[in-house]
Amino acid sequence: MTSTASDPDCLFCRIVAGTVPADVVHESATTVAFRDISPGAPTHVLLVPRDHHADAASLAAAEPARVAELVAAAGEVARQEGLERGYRLVWNTGPDAGQTVHHVHLHLLGGRGLGWPPG
Ligand code: C5P
Repeated sequence: MTSTASDPDCLFCRIVAGTVPADVVHESATTVAFRDISPGAPTHVLLVPRDHHADAASLAAAEPARVAELVAAAGEVARQEGLERGYRLVWNTGPDAGQTVHHVHLHLLGGRGLGWPPG
């Protein structure tokens, strides 16, 4: 399934619906942001659209304004988290990138120096 309002089998749809608990740090009419359960940095937040889309390219094709809203929400969370020295935004897409949850999510990582290139 690539795009639908909600997929009952999708973990992040369930987090959006509130039926799976998460540490939510930011919400809007279209976006939910919650802390990653296995953080890779002092701040590691996932930002998702409320509607189900499989990956960033699918979201951009179907609802381009949502992409900008996620990036803007990430900036707001970074400000909340005090990441004045910077942060990284990542969209893992497909198996080579290690995408494990097929509801598009923007990783926000910060709070330490981040190496480049990533592993
Ligand atoms: O980009 P990728 O699909 O690999 O990222 C999925 C992320 O979702 C992982 O960083 C994982 O720790 C996180 N996760 C979570 N809560 C869950 C399951 C996965 O924060 N219940």
